[in-house]
Amino acid sequence: MTVRDVSGIPQEANKVGTGKKAAIITFGCQMNEHDSEVIAALLESMNYCHTPSPEEADLIVINTCAVRQKPEDKVSSLLGKYQELKKEKPDLMIAVTGCMTQQEELAAYIRDRFHHVDLILGTHALPRLPSLIAMITEHKGRIVDIEEDYPDREGLPISHSSSFKAWLPVIYGCNNYCSYCVVPYVRGRERSRSLRDILNEASDLGAKGFIEVTLLGQNVNSYGQDLAENVDFPDLLMALNDKSGLKRIRFMTSHPKDLSDRLIEAVKNGDQICEHFHLPVQSGSNRILEKMNRSYTREKYMELINKIRASIPGVAITSDLIVGFPGEEESDFLDTLSLVEEARFDNAFSFLYSPRKNTAAAMLSDQLSAMVKNDRLKRLNEIQHRISKEMNHNLLNKVVEVLVDGPSKSDPAFQTGRTRTNKLVHLSADVDLSGKVIAVRITEAKTWNLHGELAEGIK
Ligand code: SF4
Repeated sequence: MTVRDVSGIPQEANKVGTGKKAAIITFGCQMNEHDSEVIAALLESMNYCHTPSPEEADLIVINTCAVRQKPEDKVSSLLGKYQELKKEKPDLMIAVTGCMTQQEELAAYIRDRFHHVDLILGTHALPRLPSLIAMITEHKGRIVDIEEDYPDREGLPISHSSSFKAWLPVIYGCNNYCSYCVVPYVRGRERSRSLRDILNEASDLGAKGFIEVTLLGQNVNSYGQDLAENVDFPDLLMALNDKSGLKRIRFMTSHPKDLSDRLIEAVKNGDQICEHFHLPVQSGSNRILEKMNRSYTREKYMELINKIRASIPGVAITSDLIVGFPGEEESDFLDTLSLVEEARFDNAFSFLYSPRKNTAAAMLSDQLSAMVKNDRLKRLNEIQHRISKEMNHNLLNKVVEVLVDGPSKSDPAFQTGRTRTNKLVHLSADVDLSGKVIAVRITEAKTWNLHGELAEGIK
């Protein structure tokens, strides 16, 4: 029988890291960042100390992303590099986890190609990380655990990377099966957390002085549909708004096919709920949207964002776009350009279509060349960058509320933070304002960010 200590860690695991250092490398989305915060806390409870430098580490954990080919290639080259490191440090343990390893073929590829990898762990098996590391430490050998058994994640420790902002998953997995997407295959079916568990965690964060949470889900709109209790996402949002004590509540990602009027009302009426929707459209062509299995038309999508803008003044809308989907004709691409002109997103993240193993779109015959894809990405970004700058210009001389994150990574003379509409603001101040909610007058508008100065009244 496995004896567990207070944090649910097997007793045989909680001393394994004594005198050792661990480095965590994270690829991908906010859900992966959150998983890495859980990994960090699990390793802390095993007595590992964290190091940002893999060269110094006794254990390296790589948390992978499989949403496109690029992050997968980066993992392969890292593993190549660590093969040399392991020759110098034979006791170095290397673990690979995340969305790449949850796929049997890719887990086997890593197992057979990189013999210096000790542990291959899927996204679902995360709670077993401590006992697996303990087993390898004691018995040596290699372990592959990509079981799809969804062990309970409630109560796992978390080491938040900020003392005032936190990721807060509300639903795991996705049932949508968009034809280009690997997520349902690596994150599984939709599983909502209970309202009570989410409220408890949020209130606990509020009590600890956290200011902002971002609710995470591949499609938060589906929240509650798999629960016995009669609750949905707008209910959850309003409960957090009224009871958590948090000042800012964000959420991502909403699927346009089932974003309800009640959700728009909740964002409009909830004082703590930030006025920003991240609403991936992916394409402006109905023919391509159908091939993507997105379940909405461009007309329905435009209707939705017009409704949001009519209901919530000053709301920000951002999106995701894919160019070069199999079979995308020039006319389809022009539909995407005209939608971007019409929608006027505050910002949009545009990606080259990247075939993912086992997805329906990867099996389509009419894959486009890299040249066509890159040309379309360039043309799309030119338009969106112009619009982003114009949208930022609307805030010139306005006073906005900013939560300061801390010194700017690019220029420490400045501090950066985000508005409620998630716009990045740089400002100069001679005191550290990290974690403060301040009023800023916008003095300059650029494509990706705004510059400002302190305005009356620090809250
Ligand atoms: S909604 Fe579609 S794109 Fe988003 S995670 Fe689910 S399958 Fe992937």
